[in-house]
Amino acid sequence: SGCWEPQYRVVLLGDPGVGKTSLANAFAGLQERDLLEQHGEVAYERTLSVDGEETTLLVIDAWEPERRGEESWHRSHCLQVGNAYVIVYSITDHGSFESAAELRIQLRSMRQAEDIPIILVGNKSDLVRCREVSVEEARACAMMFDCKFIETSAALQHNVAELFEGVVRQLRLRLEGK
Ligand code: GDP
Repeated sequence: SGCWEPQYRVVLLGDPGVGKTSLANAFAGLQERDLLEQHGEVAYERTLSVDGEETTLLVIDAWEPERRGEESWHRSHCLQVGNAYVIVYSITDHGSFESAAELRIQLRSMRQAEDIPIILVGNKSDLVRCREVSVEEARACAMMFDCKFIETSAALQHNVAELFEGVVRQLRLRLEGK
């Protein structure tokens, strides 16, 4: 351990209402919380100890829905700045799952040459009776799109730590591969 800690930007993507802010809060809430306002971006910084090593993640929760007919600089900026991406849908909303697939395609076309970690997240796993997206369907989609997959409940804090630890491991794997 030294004074230098690697820092990575993790951008949350997904339809409104799927739980991006709730996940960011759950991520930040466990320790001291730094709320930074940068150019209208809301970012949550936290240092995680994963497998005995510290890594700092800056989780950026600034994604906005597409407005008709609008070329969005902000959206393409979000798709450019991440070192890793967490694409969130709600297991209770199949439309948000379809949006997640579209986001994966957009991301791939913008960051073609790069091998960036992407995690598909089915949030609201506590709402079992309202489920519209099965685990099998989501797994198949993740496999096709070459990304990791996890279901979370921001409300119950279930799998939230595992999600961000997974992001750290994915980032390290790519660093070691270089
Ligand atoms: P965002 O628009 O993607 O940032 O979504 P929010 O974090 O604002 O969440 C939208 C709504 O879903 C809020 O009412 C949250 O309380 C609720 N919500 C978020 N995550 C969960 C979850 O894991 N389970 C349940 N039951 N509700 C959730």
